[in-house]
Parts: sequence; structure tokens; C-alpha cells
Amino acid sequence: MNVVVVGAGLAAANAVSELREQGHTGDIVVVGEEQYLPYERPPLSKGLLLGSAEPDAVFAHDRAWYDEHEVDVRVGTVVTGIDLDRGRVQLGGSDLPYDRLLLATGATPRHLATADASGAPVLHLRTLDDALLLKDRLQGRIAIIGAGWIGLEVASAARQAGAEVTVLESAPLPLQRVLGEELATVFADLHREHGVDLRLGVTVRGVEHAGGKAVVHVEGSADVIADLLLVAVGVTPNDGLASQAGLAVDNGVRVNALLRASDPHVFAAGDVANHDHPVLGTRIRVEHWDTAIQQGKHAARVMLGADEAYTRLPYFFTDQYDLGMEYVGHVDARGYDELVVRGDLGERNASVLWLREGRVLAGMHLNDWDAIDSLRRVVGGEADDAVRDPSVPLADLG
Ligand SMILES: Cc1cc2nc3c(=O)[nH]c(=O)nc-3n(C[C@H](O)[C@H](O)[C@H](O)COP(=O)(O)OP(=O)(O)OC[C@H]3O[C@@H](n4cnc5c(N)ncnc54)[C@H](O)[C@@H]3O)c2cc1C
Repeated sequence: MNVVVVGAGLAAANAVSELREQGHTGDIVVVGEEQYLPYERPPLSKGLLLGSAEPDAVFAHDRAWYDEHEVDVRVGTVVTGIDLDRGRVQLGGSDLPYDRLLLATGATPRHLATADASGAPVLHLRTLDDALLLKDRLQGRIAIIGAGWIGLEVASAARQAGAEVTVLESAPLPLQRVLGEELATVFADLHREHGVDLRLGVTVRGVEHAGGKAVVHVEGSADVIADLLLVAVGVTPNDGLASQAGLAVDNGVRVNALLRASDPHVFAAGDVANHDHPVLGTRIRVEHWDTAIQQGKHAARVMLGADEAYTRLPYFFTDQYDLGMEYVGHVDARGYDELVVRGDLGERNASVLWLREGRVLAGMHLNDWDAIDSLRRVVGGEADDAVRDPSVPLADLG
């Protein structure tokens, strides 16, 4: 059986290592548009900008590993089409046959037309090259549009590098859709305490270029004049290739519980996969590091014949200033009806559970790195009296 992986990111790196670990001896080709071997993106908005992580440390494996494991990684190569009937992927002038195909094409940052058209110094952050460029320019005044994870992590790194930072966000609080009001307030306070000019509930009306600077016109607040503007307003999945090929696509490549796409020889994993999650009972596309790793491995096992659903709950982490947190679970658009806090949110040393109709939907800790195993045990289960009682230690639950 010969396997082709489109996209050389984290899902790809983990899929190929799992294929070899499980004893697959057939050909494996990974085709990636970037000039780099697969790498980890989390350091790009944290350690790499802070100078605590070196660019060389971000790679999933070095070239010798791929050679040793007979994995043919073709960097700087774009897959331009997929022929499902003939089982081939097109690479511009040539094509490659596959018996099993993994789509691991990730996602692309959303752009703002006004910023792109302005000619002002504007960056987005997705690739190692983006991060290296950004690291060199973390001085003076930085404006960031979007108070999501990446916007806030860059704000933290930029403040620590001594830059003045303004963050513009249209929602009433940063991260409110994911965390709810109580925890979103913790992040708003954190950034303000560190000197970020956090402007919430504002709308960017336009961006202009004047004297080498970006001038951001903001409705409901003064203009922001910045040496650099980072647009961090989310990503869209790279699912164009799949839809052109005739695969089912809807906010990502639609895959079943096993991660199989609408063609039985094709799979998707990571940021591009819209997965029918059997535990959550809903479709979900997760843009997190852990999901890319675990779905990559899972798709590999299913390609080799495993008949198992992917059931792992979404998990992510962030580091901002002296705050580290991990989150497991998922609160969907219906929200939550109860929040149980153990510890002190003000001190940013706490664990939190989100509940709805007596079930624990998600859990998170702030600066309590021993908590994640206990959170994993509790999330997804019934919320009994002990779960609801903050005086019962988290470690005693589940
Ligand atoms: C700056 C940053 C910080 C992050 N921090 C965190 C964090 O702290 N915690 C967390 O949980 N998650 C974090 N994430 C998210 C996490 O990194 C992603 O979820 C993960 O990288 C997704 O992996 P992937 O393999 O699905 O896609 P990617 O890593 O995006 O890889 C996909 C690759 O496919 C290539 N490709 C696309 N189309 C084609 C084509 N047609 N032909 C060839 N190649 C193609 C792309 O160029 C790309 O290199 C962060 C992401 C970023 C950008």
C-alpha cells in the first residue's frame, strides 16, 4: 500500500511516524508547499518571539529521521489537484499514485482587504518565516487586530520585548466565545496589567499607510498609528483542493468518526478536518496542536485497517506572561449554565469546570500543571455534588 500525504505540517509528521511505528513498509510520500520539513507552530507566537526557543528546535523530525524511515518528503512542492478515480495527486507537471491519501493541508490566516490594500507594514502569523519576520520587528508600537489566542500571545511577547501594544477586538472581551465572560475577564485583566492598550467592542473601519506606518481607523475609539500591524482574525481551512476534487467539504474536509473522507481511500487530519465527533455528538473542526498530532496518528492507524472512531476530546494550551493554562473539552454555541471555580481566579491559580444540564463540558487550569489529568477524568462525565463542591480537591474527583 502506498500512502501520499498532502501538506507537511504536524498532522503529516505524526501520521508518517505512526505508519512506520505500526510496521507499514510501503512507500510514503509527503508533499509540502513550505520550504521546511514539518514543524511545530506553537513556539512561533511564544518562545521563538521571546528568544527562549531557537528556530532549529521547532522541527518534528530532522532530515536524517525521514531518510532513515524511508519517508520521501518533498518540500517546496504544491499539490495542484487530486484525481479520485485514478488515485493520483497532481504536482504541477507530474503526478503521484496513491492507495491511501491523507489531506493535512492545515489552514490559512484570514486577511482584511483594507489592510492588504493599504501598503502599510502588515503581517499575519502562520509560518516560521512569518515568525522570524515578526521577531525582528517587535519594537516601537505594534497594533494587533484580533484578541484571539495568537493575537494575545503576540501581545504578550511584544510587551516582554518592550514594544507598545494596542489590541483591537470587536467582541466585548477577548476569547469570550471560547471561555465565557468570567475567564475572558481574567485574560483582559492580565493584558491590561502588563500595559496593553486593549480596546474591546471596537470596529476597524480601515487601514492606511502614512510615512512607513500603519494608521488604523477605529470606530468608537481614536486611530492607532503603528510601526507594524498584525492581523490575527482567525484562519480558514485549506479545503479548496478537496472541494475541487469532489470530496464533501463544509468548513473543512468532512470526515466521519474514523477520519475517513467521502471517498473511502482519502482521510483528513488536523486543522483542515471537519470531524463527526462521536463523544461530543457534533461535527467539529479543531485548530489545535494536540488534535493535529493525535488525528494524524489515528488516520494512519485507520489506513492500516483499524476500525476505531477518533474520540479524544479537544485540548489546547497557552502561555502568556507568567500565565500558563491548559483546557480540555468543548463548550458549543449553546454555552454553559454553571461554572465551578476551585482556587482563585484573581491570583490566576485555579481550575475551572464548565457545566450544562448536569454534565461537565470542559475544564481548564491556570498555572496548576498537575491538574490536567484530573480535568481529563472529569470532563465528559456527570456533574455530581463533589464535582460542584469547590472544597473537594480536583484530584479527588472522577
Ligand atoms: C503561531 C501559532 C501558534 C499556535 N499555538 C498553539 C498553541 O499554543 N496551542 C495549540 O494547541 N495550538 C496552537 N496552534 C495551532 C497548531 O499549531 C495547529 O493546530 C497545527 O499546526 C495544525 O497542524 P496541521 O498539520 O493540521 O496544519 P499545518 O501545521 O498548518 O500544516 C499544513 C501544511 O500544509 C501545507 N499545504 C497546504 N496546502 C497544500 C498543498 N496544496 N500542497 C502542498 N502543501 C500544502 C501548508 O503550507 C502547511 O505547511 C498555533 C498555531 C499558530 C499558527
